[in-house]
Amino acid sequence: MQTMKLGEVSISRVIEIDRSSFSTASMLPDSSADVIAAHHRWLKPHFFDERTGDLASRIQTYVVRTPRHTVVIDTGVGNGKTRAGSPAWHMRQSSYLDDLAAVGVTPEQVDFVLCTHLHVDHVGWNTRWKDGRWVPTFPNSTYVIAGAEWEFWKYESDAGKEESGCIADSVVPVVEAGQALLVDSDFKVDEHLRFEPWIGHTPGHVCVRLTTSASSAVFSGDLMHRTVQVAEPQWSSRFCYDPAQARATRRAFVERHADSGTLILAGHFPHPGFIVREGGGYRFTPAA
Ligand SMILES: [Zn+2]
Repeated sequence: MQTMKLGEVSISRVIEIDRSSFSTASMLPDSSADVIAAHHRWLKPHFFDERTGDLASRIQTYVVRTPRHTVVIDTGVGNGKTRAGSPAWHMRQSSYLDDLAAVGVTPEQVDFVLCTHLHVDHVGWNTRWKDGRWVPTFPNSTYVIAGAEWEFWKYESDAGKEESGCIADSVVPVVEAGQALLVDSDFKVDEHLRFEPWIGHTPGHVCVRLTTSASSAVFSGDLMHRTVQVAEPQWSSRFCYDPAQARATRRAFVERHADSGTLILAGHFPHPGFIVREGGGYRFTPAA
């Protein structure tokens, strides 16, 4: 996928990191290699990474251009951030802004940054280091964040329980700059885009629904981390705040969108695609 058109709206993506920082076994503690192997017939080749012998994963940003707005959904890990616990994320120097320019977008052009949730691998490029401090990367943008998500992580950060430091260096500066818009979890951004609460992975996790004259899509954030969870929605990730709620949310999401023709664009999936029913279960199939 480079850029796809859905009616009057285009979707592009910028891949910041093209492989997983965690093995599937580590990411999905309840998963089993045997069960995953039984799904290889549909996981390969699109959702499998032969370099690692494991399921493929990305850290990426989606760029949505509607007739009126340029919108960025989730902002990856970021450059120059102290991430003591994550060598692959620590003090990165990537070409992300050049890659954004390559899909035709400068930071100044972005009208909205939509945050599905406030985890470290989704907020990094909210800010960049300039003149000795963290400033919003997108100077003309409104950063839209579910209020419930902000309240939870603000508390965790103030209590010293948010270990990565991402709230302090990637979210608070946006709030202090007056560029954050704290909203209800069903907030309507414009006539094409709106938030929907799908909680569990984090307390205020939202998906972003896109509706166009041609069809619809959902940017599902971290409701699922690996494509195999479409078939095994009971497997929560090690990073799910409430694994039982996350499981129920994932099941409901898979059932609602199966065979619906809704394009699913997940935070970490290597390709957009569709949820389809098969043999009493579900699988994911890549968009053409
Ligand atoms: Zn994530």
